[in-house]
Amino acid sequence: MALIEDQTYQPRILVIDDEKRIREGCSKILTKENCLVDVAENGETGLKMIAEKYYDIILTDLMMPGIGGMEVVARVREQHLDTVVIVITGFATLEHSIEAMKKGAFDFIPKPFTPDQLRVVVSKSVKMTRTLQDIATEKTRFKTLVNYLAGGVLVTDKSKNIILYNPTLLRMLGYQGEALDDQPLSALTTDEKLTRIIDGILGLKVGEFKVLSAEIMPHEKGEGSSKQLYLRAQAVPFQNRSGEILGSVTIIDDITHLKKLDEMKSAFISMVSHEIRVPLSTILSQIKILMDGLAGELGAKQTDILSKMSRKVEGLVELSNNLLDLSRIEAGLIVQDKQQVQLMDILDSLVGFMQTRAKEKNISLSLKKVNLPLINADGKSMEEVFSNLITNAIIYTPEGGKVTVRGEVKGDFVGIRVSDTGYGIAPEELPRIFERFYRVKTEKTRNIIGTGLGLPIVKSIVEAHNGTIQVESKEGVGSTFYVRLPIS
Ligand code: ADP
Repeated sequence: MALIEDQTYQPRILVIDDEKRIREGCSKILTKENCLVDVAENGETGLKMIAEKYYDIILTDLMMPGIGGMEVVARVREQHLDTVVIVITGFATLEHSIEAMKKGAFDFIPKPFTPDQLRVVVSKSVKMTRTLQDIATEKTRFKTLVNYLAGGVLVTDKSKNIILYNPTLLRMLGYQGEALDDQPLSALTTDEKLTRIIDGILGLKVGEFKVLSAEIMPHEKGEGSSKQLYLRAQAVPFQNRSGEILGSVTIIDDITHLKKLDEMKSAFISMVSHEIRVPLSTILSQIKILMDGLAGELGAKQTDILSKMSRKVEGLVELSNNLLDLSRIEAGLIVQDKQQVQLMDILDSLVGFMQTRAKEKNISLSLKKVNLPLINADGKSMEEVFSNLITNAIIYTPEGGKVTVRGEVKGDFVGIRVSDTGYGIAPEELPRIFERFYRVKTEKTRNIIGTGLGLPIVKSIVEAHNGTIQVESKEGVGSTFYVRLPIS
């Protein structure tokens, strides 16, 4: 078997021994094995050569006049972490060999040795030195990758000490101080949200995996200025083989430009919807004047065309209203006006108001009245939530069906159920109906006019009140929307 499996690899070896016979013997055997061998006749020369040139393996005699092998081992360990040292020892120096190993020698070979014994020891060392070099290459590759990532990287150990970070992270968090290796997280940041997600990750149980995220808003410190940044931090744990948490890895992305774009989009939508709403209302009232015959008698055909026009314009008014609502919700305006409200009163008047619409479709619309506690909410927004849900229930239920609204108290929450005996929603569509502009298109619903914005608005309002909304549905049987809101 060849000493080195990879024949393209030529390990650089230095043999330091005051005995010429040993130097020459080692050199001859190892050169034959495809190694590049240099020799030194004492410790001083050996150390000089090590300082000038990199060696993979150093074979050094322990007992030499002047600088001995022990000092060679110590100096190599200090300066060349991935160089492997083998000590050559005389008969009675086993103790010395053990001491040399403690100082960092990888192996020892007792004198006299056969060529085969030398090959075995060097072969083991070659494997070791290659592993060390692979680790060193891997480390450099990893460091380069982390340093040039566009995102910030922050790694902590279990005790929340920083063990790895990159320049992007320091820039994002505006840190300009000393190096942070092994420093506590608090030396870098006191941001509560960031600290909370890292604490959350470090507190996970054995084998548990979670991604925790938070939006943080530090100020980027430039020369004389301070720019508001929006960052998204995502923290995950890293574990050992038995699942114990060893620390946290947090990746931070700069989402400032996305936030700015989003703000611009909302401002634009809000402006356009507002500008459209006014002329649309004028068109609607003028159509009504025509239909009421105030501008002259109309025939059946003309009335029919005008009523179709009127429905389309109403659809556009609804769209612009919904868009305006959404931009108000995004701007955080809806939860500003919270008061103690009695949901049952709101539901009662809504159900009363919608009876006409239900009767047009021969749908029985009923409210099961119960006593509900007051909740802290924005009354107008609550009206919007349940008006959307009840309108949908009526729209998506065929003639002759039933729509029922019920209230209940469950622990610290008030629950409101809006159920219908309508078309229902296919299971694969259910997760999508709360997405903006998403509408389910089936044979039964394709002619129903809508914007796909009702449910997203409902969800945003409910969540802004710290509530939740769920839906259960079966095609051809009906749907139930369940809203939970905390009792104040
Ligand atoms: P829109 O009603 O304007 O289309 P929504 O956001 O209110 O928008 O609803 C999204 C979709 O969810 C609707 O297009 C419809 O397919 C479905 N949906 C909502 N409510 C019901 C319901 N009660 N029964 C059946 N389908 C419904």
